[in-house]
Amino acid sequence: MLSGVGVATKKVRNPNDLVDIDGLIIPGGESTTISMLAQRAGLLQPLRDFIKSGKAVYGSCAGMIMLADRILDGRSDQEVFGGIDITVKRNAFGRQVDSFEGFINIESLAIENFNAIFIRAPWVEKVAADVEVLAKVVGESGEERVVMVRQGKLLATSFHPELTGDNRIHKYFVSLL
Ligand code: GLN
Repeated sequence: MLSGVGVATKKVRNPNDLVDIDGLIIPGGESTTISMLAQRAGLLQPLRDFIKSGKAVYGSCAGMIMLADRILDGRSDQEVFGGIDITVKRNAFGRQVDSFEGFINIESLAIENFNAIFIRAPWVEKVAADVEVLAKVVGESGEERVVMVRQGKLLATSFHPELTGDNRIHKYFVSLL
């Protein structure tokens, strides 16, 4: 997705990899595993420092959980990197079988009909005043749920734009670099 928007990439596996990069994507997956591997690789504090340094960071799904200052339904030993002043609820839309996709509009970015894919996805339960809510979906209970936020150069989505081939959200992220 990033080469498609003209950006060179590399994988971050240890603290040295963070030295010469302008931005970071924390992918989806499993936040408890990301937490464990980050601790094992000595990346927990370096990533916290990177996020605090004002660089652009985007987290999708588990990546959103890792960027949240507070989480609900986490494992007791689970660490987050933090950075965005939100409370995120893990697996909020339900289990794997409750995964779904649907078209959303991200009005303030002029992105219409974006196919948002939610896989055992979190939602944002609470948002601080200086966090911009970019997108919501209506959950099963009929209530609106926040699924995309930005605070400064930190961006997070509950869904997986990298699975769609639609690079509009990645383009927006790159504009924050
Ligand atoms: N449910 C996962 C977690 O808690 C996130 C799922 C995903 O990234 N698709 O980390």
